[in-house]
Amino acid sequence: MKFLHSHLKKPLTFAPKFYSMRIEQNKVVMMHYKLADKDGNVIDSSEGREPLAYIHGIGALVPGLENELENKVKGDKFSTVVSPDDAYGRRDEALVRVVPKSGFQGDEEMTVGMQVQIDTGENGLAIATLTAIDGDDITLDLNHPLSDLDLHFDIEVMDIREATEEEMSHGHVHGAGGHHH
Ligand code: ZN
Repeated sequence: MKFLHSHLKKPLTFAPKFYSMRIEQNKVVMMHYKLADKDGNVIDSSEGREPLAYIHGIGALVPGLENELENKVKGDKFSTVVSPDDAYGRRDEALVRVVPKSGFQGDEEMTVGMQVQIDTGENGLAIATLTAIDGDDITLDLNHPLSDLDLHFDIEVMDIREATEEEMSHGHVHGAGGHHH
């Protein structure tokens, strides 16, 4: 036992110098990101803003990106391409529906390309893209706007810390890059 004790003592003494917190389940990660399509058109980016903060491993990001972030450390920079199967899925033509314009409430004029919130009943509220207007018929596309796309991410890990109990119970980050409430 004595030997075992002194054997363990050494790494514990020296470990902090070499220890870097890794991204794993329930860590809060702060990162800068750029999301582009295959042609380099930027879809979303944290440039000019504070880094995005999320809790790792609870489904906050698309699975393909969380997989790539696993085990990364502060300061890591990488690029990755996430396929639709690990992101927003494949297009489903059954999710395109024609509905009467008169069914909508609100003052805003309806235009092609706008996003509208609809009550799907059993599945709750969903966001749809208005893709066509023909008289009182409007066509709604419930596919995610990023479905079918290969997502090209540039990521820089800015910081990693433990999530607090309160953050875990809320399911989101508090403070910088997260919720203020
Ligand atoms: Zn909260």
